[in-house]
Amino acid sequence: MGTPYVLKSGDNAGKALEVLMFQVDGVGAVRGMSKWTETDRNSGFLRRVKGLLERARTPQVKQACKCGHQAKYISVTIKVDGVGWHDYHCDSCKVLRNSDTSLVPLNYGGLRHFGVKIDKKLFMQRLRSACGLPAKGRLNAQACHDAIYPAPAPKPKPEPRPEPPAKPKQLELL
Ligand SMILES: [Zn+2]
Repeated sequence: MGTPYVLKSGDNAGKALEVLMFQVDGVGAVRGMSKWTETDRNSGFLRRVKGLLERARTPQVKQACKCGHQAKYISVTIKVDGVGWHDYHCDSCKVLRNSDTSLVPLNYGGLRHFGVKIDKKLFMQRLRSACGLPAKGRLNAQACHDAIYPAPAPKPKPEPRPEPPAKPKQLELL
């Protein structure tokens, strides 16, 4: 629900906040904005930015774990000469193959597991794909928005009106 927030000024003018959340440098930019001093003028904007950072911790991951549940992590082996990318895991299947492997959450917070930019980029590509977004190239603002904010739950069908309880028969006094 809702629409992306397109920035009107600054280094990222014309870009949507939600798109920045799927770009390595963009995440840093949004984090930076969240630390601005609050004023009367920017308080609404700051609320939006902070809400976005909170919400983007649990993106709408489409990638499934091998058990079929929604994946929440990717297992990786981080070595000096590069990263080995392994499987996607849900909460119940996050068993590591060996002690070299670590679980990285499928959200922007996973970036901090990687020391160098190329690995951060490779992680972001996997995060994007896992969320049903193109791994490389241009991102659609609305698609990024919808990958962060959950769709509203479908309205439940109105329950059929229950029959009024039958009036208890008056007990006849004997
Ligand atoms: Zn699983």
